[in-house]
Amino acid sequence: MAILPVTLYGDKILRNKAKKLTEITPKDLQLIKNMFETMNNAYGIGLAANQVGSNKSIFVVDLSPLEDYKDEKPRIFINPQIIEFSQEKVAHEEGCLSIPDVRAEVLRPKSIKIKFKNISFEDCEIEAAEMLSRVIQHEYDHLKGIFFTDKIDPETQKKITPELNKIKKRKIEIDYPVTEKPVEK
Ligand code: ZN
Repeated sequence: MAILPVTLYGDKILRNKAKKLTEITPKDLQLIKNMFETMNNAYGIGLAANQVGSNKSIFVVDLSPLEDYKDEKPRIFINPQIIEFSQEKVAHEEGCLSIPDVRAEVLRPKSIKIKFKNISFEDCEIEAAEMLSRVIQHEYDHLKGIFFTDKIDPETQKKITPELNKIKKRKIEIDYPVTEKPVEK
């Protein structure tokens, strides 16, 4: 297993759409293990493959670091597709390992239904609400090249622009490995 450098805001791959897998190879299994190790090392609760430089349609979630979710098992989502969003929306503060030290409230549907493949490449479907729904939606957005900062109100967006520029230029201290400079491909 290995801790991989996390791609940061400004790295082009984070704006790319992920590619679906047609099968799971040993290399993919390795990638997923590394994604968990990278996420846990950075105290994250979710991580998408493009956050470690892969264009595959995979994200992982582990809510267990959160006080109220200690018994939650790690989850893997391959080729995810959200098939239902609730009408009701809720606002909650979010952060992102690719946008260190920036936090903002994001309004999202309260619950969702999602289809995906599991680690054995079998079809799965779950409903998620509360924090799990939020983290899934955040990671799902990554696979479409979308950041949580794209979804916040324009005023807050303006306020955090200097922070985003600092991240792009690596003028910040981050206590987990990240790409050394903006990655253009
Ligand atoms: Zn994120």
